Amino acid sequence: MITNLTIVMYHYVRDVGRTRFPGIKARSVPTFQGQLDYLRRHYRLISPAELAQAVRDPSYRLPSPAALLTFDDGYSDHHETVFPILADLGLTGIFAPVAKAILEGSVLAVNKIHFVLSAMQDRLGEVVNELFSLLDGYRQAYQLDSNQAYWDRLAQPNRFDPAEIIFLKRMLQRDLPEELRSLLTDELFRKYVTADERAFAAELYMNLDQLREMSAAGMGIASHGYDHYWLATLTEPQQADQIRKGLDFLNQVTNTQPSWMFTYPYGSHNPALLSLARQAGCIAGFTTEVAIAHSPHDPLLLPRLDTNDLPTAGDTAPNDWTIKATSNVP
Ligand SMILES: [Zn+2]
Repeated sequence: MITNLTIVMYHYVRDVGRTRFPGIKARSVPTFQGQLDYLRRHYRLISPAELAQAVRDPSYRLPSPAALLTFDDGYSDHHETVFPILADLGLTGIFAPVAKAILEGSVLAVNKIHFVLSAMQDRLGEVVNELFSLLDGYRQAYQLDSNQAYWDRLAQPNRFDPAEIIFLKRMLQRDLPEELRSLLTDELFRKYVTADERAFAAELYMNLDQLREMSAAGMGIASHGYDHYWLATLTEPQQADQIRKGLDFLNQVTNTQPSWMFTYPYGSHNPALLSLARQAGCIAGFTTEVAIAHSPHDPLLLPRLDTNDLPTAGDTAPNDWTIKATSNVP
């Protein structure tokens, strides 16, 4: 039974100032270590095996409050930085790499956008103008609106990002036709980041050997689908295909997967996907709903906090999420 489990989600963990892309939003190494220190003071960190047992066995009780670490998208940060830190502390976590990025050496569209924005962070106006001129070439074929109409509709700054970033993200992640989105993202990535996508992918993501090494050391490896699609937007046969190809990939990492875990890309899922996953032996699924997991949660719909929802120094006073978890102690 799952009781009072705080699952924390991480993406990049790196000291961005020392990389070629200082604009990437990442958890720095000292704040990652500080957060682990905080978590170890206030929670019992559980292993993937303990989660599996809690899901299978209604009489098995997790320690309370419990926490579990999850790392999405298979960045090489996870092997280089996270893995040794966890191993030193005798901790484990669940890592969810994207099969296609690793098997085909391609960079995820969402990562391409991050790196374009980071490379051009002081010249975002130039990227917007470049996008406009690319759109001029496709306007007729795709029956697009005018550049001004898109800008007026989408360029709304929020408390985290300026108008240009919001505009570029909305256009390239959501509003343009899907085929055109990936075409334009590729063009911008080639122009502003690199023409050698394969070399960039090899640097950005872990490889199979590294995943095997981590799995052998007790780290959990979860499926994150094959293509990193929004799974709820797919047809059932397409969903089944993502599940099957994701599992084929897991089998290359860990040989046998009698039971497996699923991290839904973007947290996107629907009832059809859950039932296909369950039929295929999935025992736990991670969403991006922000909450603490309790037994009424379907184990295929486990919520997660973002790393930014918790303090990053061991001596910080418990924040609201921790007070909530601590007061749940039976
Ligand atoms: Zn992801």
